[in-house]
Amino acid sequence: MRIVLVGPPGAGKGTQAAFLAQNLSIPHISTGDLFRANISQQTELGKLAKSYMDEGNLVPDEVTIAMARDRMEQPDAANGFLLDGFPRNVSQAEALDQALKADGVELDAVLDLEVPEDEVVKRIAGRRICRNESSHVFHVTYSPPKKEGVCDACGGELYQRDDDSEETVRRRLEVYHTQTEPIIDYYRAQGLVVTISALGKVDDVTKRAMEALDRQVEGKDQSDEDKSDSEDGDDK
Ligand code: AMP
Repeated sequence: MRIVLVGPPGAGKGTQAAFLAQNLSIPHISTGDLFRANISQQTELGKLAKSYMDEGNLVPDEVTIAMARDRMEQPDAANGFLLDGFPRNVSQAEALDQALKADGVELDAVLDLEVPEDEVVKRIAGRRICRNESSHVFHVTYSPPKKEGVCDACGGELYQRDDDSEETVRRRLEVYHTQTEPIIDYYRAQGLVVTISALGKVDDVTKRAMEALDRQVEGKDQSDEDKSDSEDGDDK
């Protein structure tokens, strides 16, 4: 399955992506995580990305698309993947379409996580992330770790992202509305969007997401069959 996850910062994309990817046995590919790994390894890409991320702006398309494509070409992504945070604007979505077309594959669904803006701010303020590669996400009130400051999954140190400050979050929300939201219409035109509410318990949102994805994939299979039936009919 090839899925794109969309939603404002704080919608719980990272949390849901980890569970969904596990349920569906596909890799979770987060461009934000890839940039953060580059920052902690102090690579040139990391230095460049940090200057944009700290301001809440998008990293330029050229480097982002190259990095995402590189990751999608890894063997574990051959049969599917769940993209989290990519694409983030229409030109990235077009580049993704071209890359998939070249490989003779297509997206199955775009899962849109909806959450009111005041909830977003609360979620981000309490968000804590594991420093280790697992990148597990916790919240000081909504999903606290068993031991304060320590990741339940791997024992790693939990930290608050630099770009989770109030000012940067405001800018990230603005960037989301102006640059990322238009991809929802772009994908809606392709019949790929399923929107669910991201409010409530993490488990409930995962369940809702799995059900919505099942419905979307069933519907898509049916419309592919109808299309091929009518093409067969056209030949006659
Ligand atoms: P995230 O972890 O998805 O919230 O991303 C954190 C930050 O990384 C964003 O605010 C951007 O600065 C940068 N970033 C992540 N993904 C992308 C992308 N697809 N295009 C451009 N910048 C990105």
